[in-house]
Amino acid sequence: MYAEAFDNQNVATFRRWSAEARNIVLLSHMNADGDACGSLLGLALMMEHASEKGCRVTPILPNGCPKNFTWLPGAERIVSGESQQDFCHTAISEAGLIVCVDLSSASRTDMLQDELLQAKGKKVLIDHHHNPSADQFDIIFSDPHISSTCELVLWLSQAMWGSRHMDSDVARCLYTGLSTDTGGFAFSCDQPSCFEAAAVLVKYNIEPAEIHNRIINTFSLDRMKFYGFALSQRMRVYPGKRVALMAFSLDDQRRFGVGGEDMEGLVNYTLMMKEIEVGALLREEPGRTKVSLRAKYGVDVNRLAAQLGGGGHTKAAGATCLLPFDETLKAVEKLLGIENEEPINLLPA
Ligand code: 5GP
Ligand code: MN
Repeated sequence: MYAEAFDNQNVATFRRWSAEARNIVLLSHMNADGDACGSLLGLALMMEHASEKGCRVTPILPNGCPKNFTWLPGAERIVSGESQQDFCHTAISEAGLIVCVDLSSASRTDMLQDELLQAKGKKVLIDHHHNPSADQFDIIFSDPHISSTCELVLWLSQAMWGSRHMDSDVARCLYTGLSTDTGGFAFSCDQPSCFEAAAVLVKYNIEPAEIHNRIINTFSLDRMKFYGFALSQRMRVYPGKRVALMAFSLDDQRRFGVGGEDMEGLVNYTLMMKEIEVGALLREEPGRTKVSLRAKYGVDVNRLAAQLGGGGHTKAAGATCLLPFDETLKAVEKLLGIENEEPINLLPA
């Protein structure tokens, strides 16, 4: 089991803080994915069980729970920083213990970051990104080689409490992050511990196929129409450079009534062509552009994202650029070495 990798002293301290705290806030990143939602809720459920004093546990996401994760056990309790900013600021500043999951730096909590940095409560980070901001937390449990934060939460909970607070609701939450962060056990799963974690979770009567259907097979007709448009009109392929890129302006998104959540996973289509090694997706937001980068083998996209002020993992990384959309596009083209190349469009307009 992975638990031997933890620092025993840190595990004991976190267990004590969890048992003693009366107000606990759990927090994850903007545009939460399955790993953020799953680790947030799985840990919230266990911490509530583990509390000796009937503590209040408040799970917060900067812009709330995405539509395709609202079925997760406890999702109805997630408070959105965007729509309940005052409530979140008070909860964060009054919390005795703040646990951040699936983020490496307070900046990823967006509008909550100042409150988080100024909060007086104890701060713990559980994460698997590169280069966690050590100075922002009292204790860090972090390992970039591990599949997902959900996996780390499982092993950490076992190190702290054994299986005492595990049940099928917790298992559904944690399996969700394990499955989504590995693309359904396709990547970021080269350590045996990932499959050992899946084996532990499946014993709690969860149904992997049902979870998969709830996460992936949920497209609306409009979203599928948008994917048709995206692949036929917006995919630009540079076979000579082994790069493919998609970019969506606000106008594109308005035309199909789609937003960031609807594009979750779309960037992976860039890697489906055998010639392509690196894929990028750009999405304009008001005042900024989100960049997603993906790689198959040799390229470290975490390093590329860092050049845009972002970060992430070796094979999946991202950045949020404050430049206008066209300038961000130019910067990404330069980064990928395609600024002077003619793309192939799959189905020219
Ligand atoms: P995605 O492309 O799915 O939005 O994000 C992939 C990974 O890149 C995330 O797991 C996260 O680690 C990282 N990432 C995405 N956006 C940002 C960002 O704006 N800043 C940083 N530092 N990392 C990001
Ligand atoms: Mn993750």
